[in-house]
Amino acid sequence: MMNLAINVQGLERVYGSGSQRVLALQGVNLQVPAGQFVAVKGRSGSGKTTLLNCLGGLDRGNAGTIHIFAHNITHLNDAQLTEWRSKEIGFIFQSFGLLPTLSAFENVELLLRIAGIPHRQRQERARHCLELVGLGKWIEHRPYEMSGGQQQRVAIARAIANQPQLILADEATGELDTETGNEILSLFRKLVDEQLLTILLATHSNQVDEFVHQTLFLQDGRIVGS
Ligand code: ADP
Ligand code: MG
Repeated sequence: MMNLAINVQGLERVYGSGSQRVLALQGVNLQVPAGQFVAVKGRSGSGKTTLLNCLGGLDRGNAGTIHIFAHNITHLNDAQLTEWRSKEIGFIFQSFGLLPTLSAFENVELLLRIAGIPHRQRQERARHCLELVGLGKWIEHRPYEMSGGQQQRVAIARAIANQPQLILADEATGELDTETGNEILSLFRKLVDEQLLTILLATHSNQVDEFVHQTLFLQDGRIVGS
């Protein structure tokens, strides 16, 4: 049987109630094989961020089941989700989310510290991951001394540092110019091909087409094709 990174059945997410009720996800079924770079495309408001948040355990559905590799995360409580996420999932956001007073190295190392990785291992992994994303010479620089593309590379190094199997990237190239965006997309593809990662990238842009293995389309909270 194919090794699935993501297996979602009937996922629903409702926000609010009464006249404020929004069906952000209305019965999403989704299977993503391990080792692929997959885009989830859809307009603003189609449910991409809600889907990624549910997949990474930052949010919960109101119905349906979510398996990420061998883990059924559907009924985990908050503490279990946090513990699971810190080992299994790397998140990348549009706005990078780096701490401005910390160097690139410290930004990557901090997450490993929170995950309880011993000092020596933290240092080695942070350095290794920053080299992997092409920032070997920039590890002592702070975010404001780097370009947007470099900052996103730090965020990618941070996301892969704890060796997660799945990376969830929400509009990860949304704040970058086309050329820099292409560099980041090609880095994602390289990581999938060489580090055996699975990456799910939410986007509303067509820029991803030449880099991904597969594209899924989300419309009004439903997968409408691939
Ligand atoms: P996308 O990332 O594709 O732009 P979202 O997942 O952010 O889509 O939003 C999907 C739908 O859910 C939209 O209609 C949005 O307005 C609504 N929504 C998202 N977050 C919330 C929230 N916290 N409270 C209420 N409605 C929300
Ligand atoms: Mg979004």
